[in-house]
Amino acid sequence: MKQVLKNLRSQVKLLNSLYYLVFLTFLMDLSIVGVLNINFLNANYIKVIFLSILAIMKIFVYGGFYGSLVDFCSGQEIFLTFRRFKQNVKDVWGSYIILSVFIWILYLILITNIPNCGITILSFFSYLDIVFCLCLAYLMIGKQYPLTRINRRFFDLEFLCSIFLLYLAKIVLVHVLESSNMGLAIIDKMIALMAQYFHFLLFINISTQFIKHCPCAIEDRQRPEIYLVSPVVSGVLEPIINNILGSLLGFFYPPVFLIISALTPKKYKIKEFYNRFWRDEYYQGNKLVVITCYTVNAYEAYSIAKGFKEKGSKVVIGGVHVSFLPDEALEFCDSVIIGEAVGAWEEVIHDYEKGDLKKKYYGLDYLDYPDSVQKELMRKNEEISSKLIETSRGCKFDCEFCTNFMMCGTQIRKKPVKDILSIIKKVRHKYKYICFLDANIFNDPNYFFELFESVKKLNVKWMASCTIDIAANEKALALAKESGCKMLRFGYEITDRSEEMKQGGKFSLANKYSALTKKVREKGIAVTAFLIFGHDSDNFKSFIDLVRFALVNPFLTRSVCILTPYPGTRLYYRKLAENKLRNLNWMEYNASRFVIKHDQLNEPLYEVIIPLIFNLIFFRPLTYAFLFAVFYALGVVIFSIPK
Ligand code: SF4
Repeated sequence: MKQVLKNLRSQVKLLNSLYYLVFLTFLMDLSIVGVLNINFLNANYIKVIFLSILAIMKIFVYGGFYGSLVDFCSGQEIFLTFRRFKQNVKDVWGSYIILSVFIWILYLILITNIPNCGITILSFFSYLDIVFCLCLAYLMIGKQYPLTRINRRFFDLEFLCSIFLLYLAKIVLVHVLESSNMGLAIIDKMIALMAQYFHFLLFINISTQFIKHCPCAIEDRQRPEIYLVSPVVSGVLEPIINNILGSLLGFFYPPVFLIISALTPKKYKIKEFYNRFWRDEYYQGNKLVVITCYTVNAYEAYSIAKGFKEKGSKVVIGGVHVSFLPDEALEFCDSVIIGEAVGAWEEVIHDYEKGDLKKKYYGLDYLDYPDSVQKELMRKNEEISSKLIETSRGCKFDCEFCTNFMMCGTQIRKKPVKDILSIIKKVRHKYKYICFLDANIFNDPNYFFELFESVKKLNVKWMASCTIDIAANEKALALAKESGCKMLRFGYEITDRSEEMKQGGKFSLANKYSALTKKVREKGIAVTAFLIFGHDSDNFKSFIDLVRFALVNPFLTRSVCILTPYPGTRLYYRKLAENKLRNLNWMEYNASRFVIKHDQLNEPLYEVIIPLIFNLIFFRPLTYAFLFAVFYALGVVIFSIPK
């Protein structure tokens, strides 16, 4: 009995972590009952329309939820993602509908043959709850793992006791609900919600039992695990946006996850954590944890590393920030990867298996990606593959404030054109809009022509980061347009009147910025602009120039950042030597704070007016229209509420 209660406790804990889905399924059922009881002035077709919509929603919510419960029971997932939820809906909806229809048919047979039996559909479903859960769990788990035949050992005493307890609780609640004459709707709803809760608990119980008796699932659970973690940035607003938009719309997938997955031996199970607030339940012992760290999320990365180390896991941190400050990171983790994962990761795995991790690993040979990375990219689903199309690594320029040159080396590494084309062909049926990951899509004009002459035939639309020198090349610009380019993101960084033009490199084109931008726009390609304020020569006049530049040029969007000396950049070392860094608090290195002491600027003032001007004044008309619509709707709702 002790064991039964212990198991039930852990299952209750699991279900409680998904309480909002229990509530959502309950709301779905409640809405259906509500629509059935509403009289639509004899317009039954309206009722049918509403019921059909609700039925589809119910299948979606229930299907995804049952699938997620199985994922949690089998240990495949430890948190819910929208992507996985959608996948579960696809896998489960058929079985769910068949079983529900089957029970409905049984009920209809019963009441046509014994009209006075007095059993309601609610009671009937409850009596058959065990059968429903057994069949559904069997079908779902059987899809993932080959199940052995159900034998006598399956129905052990512990299992029988627990399902009997849950089943009894559910039946009692349903009977209380049906015989309730308290007249208190809220109490009835509470009882119905509890009955719903016991239904899902029963399903978890049965699924857990199946998984316990499934050799493949057990084997799968025993596989060593690697956790890949990309922490969200510290702060308030950004993590929320990152988390909600990222997980719902799948905005961002860390490219390094793909590389590590490709290079890891298949015996390891990989769990990915990105776009998500960290929770203490995620800390586990006995894992290999890899955290990717860039300056602004360093604080989060270190605190997660510490949490895993305390649980007894081995922690490796890689990424731009720790590549330049490895000793800082080593205070929180076991090892640091300096440079790229390719060239270092195989050694990390080898040493981890020997139980002999080194402090530092070096991936500074700037190797081409091995074939396994391309294979992994082709294996991933289209949603992820479409976000990871990169044609080259590195950049032909070497801007003082950019880490690209230091991280990716001096050579530009181009991927074989045929590899890029095969990924585009794979994803284009689902994702017509491709966003290239390159730091600069126009690194090598010859390669650009070779690639986009072929892309032209694939009938896709694309956007990419680029340098403005593409506009000086008529042919390249024409080819970009013909091959489906819809938007180019230019890092202008300075204005056409900036003193920094003297630095040369990319900035030498600054006096032609407006003319070149006009050319791009004339081709029908939208331009998004990135500008930086806080250069050495910047002053009040430069700020006015910046506003003018952002205003007179036909940009689709423009964002202005404050010059930030990220560790590893030449700017960082220069400012460090000049003793001009305000602090080394990495949370402030978010491009909206002045971390450089500036001679000619009132820094706090500009920290306020830059976001104010560039977020409010330069909002696009569509944004204004949207805001107007929201406020108008709010006004209508508020003023139409009867007093
Ligand atoms: S052009 Fe862009 S990617 Fe290249 S070095 Fe400059 S800032 Fe970095």
